[in-house]
Amino acid sequence: MGLTSINLPAPPQANLIHMKPWQSDQLRRALELRRASLVGELERDVERVRDERFTEVSQAELARDSEELREIDAAWRRIGDGTYGLCTDCGAEIGFERLHAEPEAARCIDCQARHEKTYRT
Ligand SMILES: [Zn+2]
Repeated sequence: MGLTSINLPAPPQANLIHMKPWQSDQLRRALELRRASLVGELERDVERVRDERFTEVSQAELARDSEELREIDAAWRRIGDGTYGLCTDCGAEIGFERLHAEPEAARCIDCQARHEKTYRT
């Protein structure tokens, strides 16, 4: 798993598509803060996985946190690409309210619901 990219890449400067400047700033900042705290959690997860008393729970947490870090990094790349805020499935605008609640969101609510239905195990 990719803990190598622990440092946040340089923040893209462009305003987000369909967003006002203050909204862009707020979402970028939310991503940065979420990523910073996640990196801290991952470091703790890794330590606890090494401690065999916690192995099973910790591995599940490690997997979940790694996945979230991956999503945040993907969102960060979409800012650079100029596609952040657009649904990766249908291209619709995701909207500030949803992104505010979940800044790494890649899909609009409809596509996310469909995705979860399709891939639920
Ligand atoms: Zn969609």
